[in-house]
Amino acid sequence: MAEGTVNNPSALGTAYPITDHTYDVVVVGAGGAGLRAVVGCSEAGLRTACITKVFPTRSHTVAAQGGIAASLGNMGRDDWRFHMYDTVKGSDWLGDQDAIEYLVRNAPAAVYELEHWGVPFSRTEDGRIYQRPFGGMTTDFGKGIAQRTCAAADRTGHAMLHTLYGAALKHQAEFFVEYFALDLIMDEEGRCRGIVALKMDDGTIHRFRAHRTILATGGYGRAYFTATSAHTCTGDGNAMVLRAGLPLQDMEFVQFHPTGIYGAGCLITEGARGEGGYLTNSEGERFMERYAPSVKDLAPRDMVSRAMTMEIREGRGVGKRKDHIFLHLDHLDPKILAERLPGISESARIFAGVDLTKEPIPVLPTVHYNMGGIPTNYHGEVLTKKGNDPDAIVPGLMALGEAACVSVHGANRLGSNSLIDLVVFGRAAGLRCAEMLKPGEKHADLPADSAEKALSRFDRLRYAKGGTPTAELRLSMQRVMQNDCAVYRTGTSLAEGKEKIHQVWQSADDVRVTDRSLIWNSDLIETLEFDNLISQAVVTMDGAENRTESRGAHAREDFPNRDDQNWMKHTLAWADTEKKSVSIDYRPVHTYTMSNDVQYIEPKARVY
Ligand SMILES: Cc1cc2nc3c(=O)[nH]c(=O)nc-3n(C[C@H](O)[C@H](O)[C@H](O)COP(=O)(O)OP(=O)(O)OC[C@H]3O[C@@H](n4cnc5c(N)ncnc54)[C@H](O)[C@@H]3O)c2cc1C
Repeated sequence: MAEGTVNNPSALGTAYPITDHTYDVVVVGAGGAGLRAVVGCSEAGLRTACITKVFPTRSHTVAAQGGIAASLGNMGRDDWRFHMYDTVKGSDWLGDQDAIEYLVRNAPAAVYELEHWGVPFSRTEDGRIYQRPFGGMTTDFGKGIAQRTCAAADRTGHAMLHTLYGAALKHQAEFFVEYFALDLIMDEEGRCRGIVALKMDDGTIHRFRAHRTILATGGYGRAYFTATSAHTCTGDGNAMVLRAGLPLQDMEFVQFHPTGIYGAGCLITEGARGEGGYLTNSEGERFMERYAPSVKDLAPRDMVSRAMTMEIREGRGVGKRKDHIFLHLDHLDPKILAERLPGISESARIFAGVDLTKEPIPVLPTVHYNMGGIPTNYHGEVLTKKGNDPDAIVPGLMALGEAACVSVHGANRLGSNSLIDLVVFGRAAGLRCAEMLKPGEKHADLPADSAEKALSRFDRLRYAKGGTPTAELRLSMQRVMQNDCAVYRTGTSLAEGKEKIHQVWQSADDVRVTDRSLIWNSDLIETLEFDNLISQAVVTMDGAENRTESRGAHAREDFPNRDDQNWMKHTLAWADTEKKSVSIDYRPVHTYTMSNDVQYIEPKARVY
């Protein structure tokens, strides 16, 4: 709710008059995580605002295909303890087990809630929610293959996001659509007091004051050259956290999805293998049988991506340049394909020119998900390390969804565990706000210069008159990340990558913005996004170079084994965006569960 325009006496304040807003809670992001939190907070009677740079139903969650994991047991025996075991093992023992227990125990209720709100799930013959097999999802602690992933054909995210937006609109929350959040407002005690944002259609600046600011701004896949994620996935919230002097966690763990369409990079869901699809090399061999004898093509993503890379390296790639792999669905009943995988049938036709009922799809591992992000506990409260306390809560600040690192996915996320993470922790954040806040509680005054830092960065980039266009800097960053921070990593390539990515960071000072206007200035927005991406690229590379072991998605050829003695710990990385330097420290992994209903799962070799 606008409270009028105030005059800020400083020079920047005169150049950019500020419109003030006051809420109990401000949620930044209207993907699955942000919208679920909006529903929870407004249901509790808290005055809630939701700020989003794209229209809510265009958030990347809309693109999710395969489904959402919950041990409903609709298609065979299942138990949340099996889901917990799989998630811990999938995480390669980097996940926090208390948070994982919270996730899997609350998963079935979260799916039924979505069903009751209207998500049109696919159905079994007897009318229950349809569930398909997915990578790494097993029964009886690794013995059988589970059917745990609830799906609305291959458009699960689309169905979920539209339903969640509808649910949010039923409440009193106010939406600020096409507002670009610039920076957090932090006070001297380190409390987050709200956020500064740009209204993109008229160039006005808005200051949102809130008792809780919830970042649900998604991942940063666009730091890489090819990614399945939308162009809007630039991790803006993560970068705001770095600029606020707070750390990001486990950023070296970047998930490559085995089946991005060769060339185009867009996704063919793991649900394709869940429905019986399989991979072959140039000899027509179903090579996954060699790498994961028990689960084969349904091994977790890190393993399948590595196996594909190995096959290509050893000369068994397909195509003229022997540089990709085939995914077969041509043996399946076309009726099933039309019913359960209509979206990818269309993608294969448009982006690979392939009729998947007759021919295989050319695929290649493609950047897909960020396990790392803003460290939080399972209430969604942001954590930092303070003195000897590795779990110190940052007052006023919360984070959710792909932007957050709870950490339930650890070193490798299992497919269909992100959508469930969004709604379980989105709900948890709403409950936490309801518990901690009284609706309409009075706000302390903000310092007069509370928007100054955000505005000075904004003004500097708006008038940037260096020699290098943003697009050129972005391309350099994306190339370095793609080449040197890939599926396999070595000490030499990482050292080289580190030097190169720091160079790009330095040369970012030479950025040139040509359009100075404030209305729909895409040149400026892309520059703000690039500035956000580069700091995350740097901490990703530095974290990868620093971690001398292989765990989950972080596969080092020079350190091929997991090293629990030295490395069963979370990386925390701070970036000084002015001095352009990174510092690294650690937090212990939570090796305890939330309740006594389940025991800590001891580390062991991760074989499938
Ligand atoms: C193609 C694809 C398919 C996938 N399929 C599955 C699947 O089947 N199952 C599964 O579990 N996971 C899947 N995933 C992963 C999962 O979809 C994502 O991790 C998840 O949707 C992220 O949701 P989110 O709410 O965190 O963020 P997003 O949905 O990415 O939303 C981010 C929100 O933040 C807002 N925002 C960002 N920056 C700013 C800013 N500066 N100012 C204002 N607003 C801002 C955006 O407007 C947007 O509303 C898939 C991912 C992709 C890319």
